[in-house]
Amino acid sequence: MNKQEYIDASEEGLLHVYNRFPVVFDHGEGMRLYDSDGKSYLDFASGIGVMAFGYGHPDHTAALHEQVDKLLHTSNLFYHPPLMDAASALCRVSGMDKVFFTNSGAEAIEGAIKTAKKYAFKKTGKAGKNVIAFNHSFHGRTVGALSVTGNEHYREAFYPLMDGVRFADFNDIESVRTLVDPDTCGIIVEPIQGEGGIVPATKEFLQGLRQLCDEHDILLILDEIQCGMGRSGHMYAYMGYDITPDVLTTAKALGGGVPVGAFAVSKKVAASSLEPGDHGTTYGGNPLVCAAVKASIELMEKLDLPGHVKETAPYLEKKLSELCEKHPETALGHRGVGFMQGLIISPEIKPVDIAKKALEKGLVVLTAGSDVLRLLPPLIAEKSDIDEMAGILDGIL
Ligand SMILES: *Cc1c(COP(=O)(O)O)cnc(C)c1O
Repeated sequence: MNKQEYIDASEEGLLHVYNRFPVVFDHGEGMRLYDSDGKSYLDFASGIGVMAFGYGHPDHTAALHEQVDKLLHTSNLFYHPPLMDAASALCRVSGMDKVFFTNSGAEAIEGAIKTAKKYAFKKTGKAGKNVIAFNHSFHGRTVGALSVTGNEHYREAFYPLMDGVRFADFNDIESVRTLVDPDTCGIIVEPIQGEGGIVPATKEFLQGLRQLCDEHDILLILDEIQCGMGRSGHMYAYMGYDITPDVLTTAKALGGGVPVGAFAVSKKVAASSLEPGDHGTTYGGNPLVCAAVKASIELMEKLDLPGHVKETAPYLEKKLSELCEKHPETALGHRGVGFMQGLIISPEIKPVDIAKKALEKGLVVLTAGSDVLRLLPPLIAEKSDIDEMAGILDGIL
């Protein structure tokens, strides 16, 4: 089959909800992807922040092979060794005390929202609690997650959504303070907004949210589905803010390529929120994904990827600054943390057109918001990969 035949046959059977790039990927190795014609691509997207170790890391692959041969699924009515290993590994590196494994990021958000509601319910004996979320946030596509996503474009066709969500302005603590009332049960926020355009929270803002939650005994939910697992240069981005969340959501890189997410809570929240019968999932935390979680976390520690990101990110930022200096008409600036970086593109140019040109030249990049070219390289990226990426973007800009 040639490329166009793959594409046509796929579209024949798929619901059209993605405008996919006309590329058929066949396999990957390290920082590189190969398409069905054998063309090689340098990957600065990592499958939207999932492939932290690049493609086919032998430790990760071996752990999956071993588990496939042993046991794939049991349901959550039973215990299995990978579940124990994954839970203890995630508690260890997340700084949280109890975890619940989900099949996606959106489901982790659903669990987090239910946790905040149940915490308030146990305290007051009343339901009807509200959540505060942020403009330009992204938390996923299920109805609950969409309800806290501050992007009208994703929401408009699906009202009525979950009741009682109010939107404040990111990095504006006063806009949050005015929304908190006795019916508020939680605040959900990305420490670094991803889809919204790669916008890091300020330290004052996250610390202010922490303080506000403490004052009102409501839960601070940090969505680290994109910025977590080493990408910020910390294992979790909140660790750079001198605060701790009540609920943490994580997914994307958590399984290094298998679909798994989690929400994690503190001891205090665990003791006073979801109980047997309140929540569940058939697949969530099955032996295969738990083997992947354990392998991913151990690999992240073995390679010290948070340390590598922290050390290498200044070089990435320097290269982006150089691109902005050289192409002031097209690249207006850059922002981000660690290996989560956005290049701000002039309003006359669509970032997706740059992403298309990059693909033609063998570079995979993403977009975010309406004006940002988003770079989420695998966390194993070296300076030489950054040079190659910058060289290709230089030609395009
Ligand atoms: C990707 C993402 C989600 C949703 O995760 P899915 O696995 O696509 O459901 C939620 N929050 C953030 C910050 C994300 O980046």
